[in-house]
Amino acid sequence: MKPTNPMFTGLPTTIFEVMSSLARETGAINLGQGFPDVDGPEIIRRAAADALMAGPNQYPPMMGVPELRQAVAEASLRFQGIPVDWQKEVMVTSGATEAITDAILGLVAPGDEVVLIEPLYDSYLPIVRQAGGIPKLVRIAPPKWELDPDALAAAFSDKTKAILINSPMNPAGKVFSRAELQIIADLCLKFDAYVIADEVYEHLVYDGEQHLSLMGFEGMRDRVVRIGSAGKTFSLTAWKIGYVTAAPNLLAPIAKAHQFVTFTTPPDLQKAVAVGLRLGDDYYADFKTGLQAKRDRLSAGLKSLGFDVLHSGGTYFISTDTGPLGLQDDAEACLKMTREAGVAAVPVSAFYAADPPSNFIRFCFCKQDHVLDEALNRLGDWLKRQRS
Ligand code: PMP
Ligand code: GLN
Repeated sequence: MKPTNPMFTGLPTTIFEVMSSLARETGAINLGQGFPDVDGPEIIRRAAADALMAGPNQYPPMMGVPELRQAVAEASLRFQGIPVDWQKEVMVTSGATEAITDAILGLVAPGDEVVLIEPLYDSYLPIVRQAGGIPKLVRIAPPKWELDPDALAAAFSDKTKAILINSPMNPAGKVFSRAELQIIADLCLKFDAYVIADEVYEHLVYDGEQHLSLMGFEGMRDRVVRIGSAGKTFSLTAWKIGYVTAAPNLLAPIAKAHQFVTFTTPPDLQKAVAVGLRLGDDYYADFKTGLQAKRDRLSAGLKSLGFDVLHSGGTYFISTDTGPLGLQDDAEACLKMTREAGVAAVPVSAFYAADPPSNFIRFCFCKQDHVLDEALNRLGDWLKRQRS
């Protein structure tokens, strides 16, 4: 029989599913895949339930329900000071994953170069390749995850169609600084390149810092495709509601991809997310403060167990070396830790195309305090058992 598409045939199952299945199987506390263990605000869930019962439960408009598109436009102005036209510049997708796929399919033609920064979210590379794009990988390295401007400049050329940037960045927890974003903006302007900005963690920035979107940088308004996710912003990851904001000429081809990828997204969930985006400043402030405290709790606990914890300024994640686990190979360390200690994490090597650093693991901290504490106890006991 003829071979199936080599772009997907033989790809490993995504590490998030692998580690979550193993956690389920073994009863481990799952600090691997990034999802909260408490669902988001009741007012949002109630709005979804009401909309579901009131109906209609039929195809909504392809671009998204007006309430949500308007709410996304309002949020753009409210949080980033960027006015957008909800009718021409906003589209709703089934999660940011779909939005990223649509954006790549809509912008990248075969032979176009796409700059990607490693470590990178695992959906980017296969979709860029499927689109016929040529990935140009630039690395930021632990422990500081600093961007080397020369390495970045070397990845750009006249063939660069776009850079895909994720800030705050998974798994590094890096929040790109204004200076770093300016370097990216300058290169995009110099080489006439677009930006696909994966900003799913835009509301998860800690230590009093503010999220900056490249869309707000001078000259960049109409070059940036900005992507958000209700899953992250409202602790409702299963809902898979994403949104894309882009200038009309960019959104048009992205919408053409969307119409054949999913076409529409459940309207009851969309209406509820509109309620969420309009919540008061208290919600957003409490959300950040709560997550920052969890970051600090898990970091302190892991440090006390002897892990070298890297700084995380945003996202759901912190990374550490594999240090006390006594294994250099991060994938092996995560498997062993899940099975023996009863705590699952994710190997950072899964976020690289090839030749990854192999001694870092990622822990998700958006869990109830008692769950984080229990995970730390289990790790502590296990490390003691190993030593004795
Ligand atoms: N981008 C990044 C960096 C992510 O961590 C995630 C998390 N799943 C996504 C995109 C996808 O978001 P969604 O669940 O809305 O598809
Ligand atoms: N973004 C989540 C993470 O990094 C996982 C989402 C998924 O499983 N696709 O853990």
